[in-house]
Amino acid sequence: MKFSGRSLMNSKNFSDVENLPLEDKQLQDVDVQWMERAIQVADLTAPSGDVPIGAVVVSATGQELAIGWNTRERDQDPCGHAELNGLRAAAARQGSWRLEGCSLYVTLEPCAMCAGAMVLARIRRCVWGAADPKGGYLGSLGNLGADPRLNHRYEVQGGVLAEPCSALLKAFFRDLRQKKG
Ligand SMILES: [Zn+2]
Repeated sequence: MKFSGRSLMNSKNFSDVENLPLEDKQLQDVDVQWMERAIQVADLTAPSGDVPIGAVVVSATGQELAIGWNTRERDQDPCGHAELNGLRAAAARQGSWRLEGCSLYVTLEPCAMCAGAMVLARIRRCVWGAADPKGGYLGSLGNLGADPRLNHRYEVQGGVLAEPCSALLKAFFRDLRQKKG
């Protein structure tokens, strides 16, 4: 799934990886590595029983700047999404709210609030894993990252490691239903 910016293959189709131009293939490998990290981060929701969603903010130079995970239940905070927590931690670490040049990786397609926060933080790129047809605003219900009326736009790449990202959520909700009997 591709919504703006440079030409990249559909991330769901890994069989085509060998046919990519070298630069795109390297970008693809990097995306997969950071998404694996975001999946690890999603595990940090386990102690609080929050829905497992993880995010990583990567600096312009390709270093991990901050992580964020879903804390909605833990903090009883409707805004406690993984992406917002990650953006806040990244801005605090940088000592600047401007996250120009940064990329944010997240296991689930961001909602409108988080997609909007990424506009405000002026990030360069967002890469997400599983699509969210009922709430996602970087491809599914709209694309806030590419709205020409806003004063900042960013590149969006969806569907990176979509299957493991969505398996995480499916397992969580299956366990929840079993606990409830
Ligand atoms: Zn959100």
